[in-house]
Amino acid sequence: MSSAVSPVTGRHRIAERWFDPQEKRFESHNPARWEEIVGVFPSATAAVADEAVVAARAAYPTWRRTSRIYRADLFDNLAQLVKRDADALAELMARECGKVVTECKAEVIEGLHMIQYVFGTGRMPIGDVLESEVPEKDASMRRKPWGVAAVITPWNFPFAVPLWMLGPSLLEGNTCVFKPSEDTPAIGQRLVELFEEAGFPPGVLNLVHGDAVAGEALVRNAGVNVVLFTGSYEVGRRIQQLSAEHHDRIVACEMGSKSAVIVCEDARLDLAVTAAIVSAFKTSGQRCVSASRVLVAEPLLDRFAAKFVATAQRLRIGDPLDRGNFTGPVIHHAAVEKVERYNELARAEGAEVLLEGGRMKTQDGVPGCYLSPFVYRMDHRPGARAIREEVFGPHLALIPFKTNEDAARIYNDTEYGLSMAVITEDYRAMRYFRDECQFGMGYVNLPCIGAEVHLPFGGVKKSGNGHPSAAGLVETVTHKIAWTVNHGTEIKMAQGLTTDIEGGPA
Ligand code: NAD
Repeated sequence: MSSAVSPVTGRHRIAERWFDPQEKRFESHNPARWEEIVGVFPSATAAVADEAVVAARAAYPTWRRTSRIYRADLFDNLAQLVKRDADALAELMARECGKVVTECKAEVIEGLHMIQYVFGTGRMPIGDVLESEVPEKDASMRRKPWGVAAVITPWNFPFAVPLWMLGPSLLEGNTCVFKPSEDTPAIGQRLVELFEEAGFPPGVLNLVHGDAVAGEALVRNAGVNVVLFTGSYEVGRRIQQLSAEHHDRIVACEMGSKSAVIVCEDARLDLAVTAAIVSAFKTSGQRCVSASRVLVAEPLLDRFAAKFVATAQRLRIGDPLDRGNFTGPVIHHAAVEKVERYNELARAEGAEVLLEGGRMKTQDGVPGCYLSPFVYRMDHRPGARAIREEVFGPHLALIPFKTNEDAARIYNDTEYGLSMAVITEDYRAMRYFRDECQFGMGYVNLPCIGAEVHLPFGGVKKSGNGHPSAAGLVETVTHKIAWTVNHGTEIKMAQGLTTDIEGGPA
């Protein structure tokens, strides 16, 4: 079955110009029915990416001199447009990235919340008034934008993640070059069209489509002050290495994870199973925060595993446009193959397979990228790769633990540290895991997924470098200045420093 929707015509947007240089092009496919082409897009060369940076630099002085409240008002316009188009945006997203349409709608709402948050902060303080040692001095801290931000984003949150980054960057007076994932360019382009319709002036937000060539050209460009990256560790590492060549470059990297749910012996079983299923298999395990490990107190493991597997078997996996499905396909055939390799690896590393998962046939026989959940039990062993590396798919290990100390040690035994949930009624255990586990987002009696924009979002270790996005991003896209004014008629210095130019008595 092929779709009646015509493919999107892809174009870069640089300053006021929407264009396709008619060089190299690439297609965006629907992962649920691969033969459906969602759009055809130009793939930016380094020269096109450089041109976008020039346009963003040119627009920067005028943009930063506008009032922050004017900039916030443009976000209010944008909010109205996103509300108007929410269903159409969710549908386009479902067709392009394979997430179930209800989940895509939730992502559109998350993006809308970020826009509303940014609008709301437009009239909030942008600095602090501070005291000085010298009574005649007024001292304050103000924030200034850095200049041009390159925003490089992944496919799995193609609407909300760009808004987490573009929103605070533009509000604070930076201009941007946005490069969406080559797997989800149509939704990225639609977002930029909405910014234009909302009245953001030309050059303030530029769009270049493409892959690593375009992304790397942006990172190498000395005209970029800030790189805001969300994606895999391997790419984030490369971006940080390239950025080391630029003396005042700020880089915020949100990267992969090996998140986990810890189920203590006193956990409510139903709640624990629901939390673990949602953490592991929502979005087919393709959230940065998806759990691919559930650590279970040994005495509870058999009961937990039986209920967990029975629930995983019942999950409805299918067409992303069918609102009744729990999850859809994975993003592309390469992702199917990667998950299958990790399923094999787990077997080779001694997994006791509890639920055979892997490549699935679609209900209508159309080739799609469907995978069913693979669940296994494995004792923790340092060095076992399947339980330490990011898989990014429906692949889950149940790992027994004896004590809370054991559980924290197992949780921390990966190179990632993004998200963690603990299921317990014991307030001392909650606090122990909060303090001993290495993560950016922690949840109690909840799944380890489910961000809200007014909270910081980011991780530690290979998951991130401590520059959270969403509400926390203001710290990354601005720098602080101290501003000190003397109201006296002579100069008095702090720390008793003398201003005596002629020299005092010997
Ligand atoms: P990816 O790293 O393959 O691609 C991300 C972006 O980087 C894309 O736009 C891509 O074109 C670009 N890119 C690729 N090579 C580049 C280079 N050399 N220089 C500059 N840019 C380059 O990631 P993906 O497959 O799109 O997304 C999945 C990954 O993203 C997973 O690892 C997931 O955990 C992670 N992720 C993290 C978060 C978070 O907040 N921590 C959120 C979502 C996704």
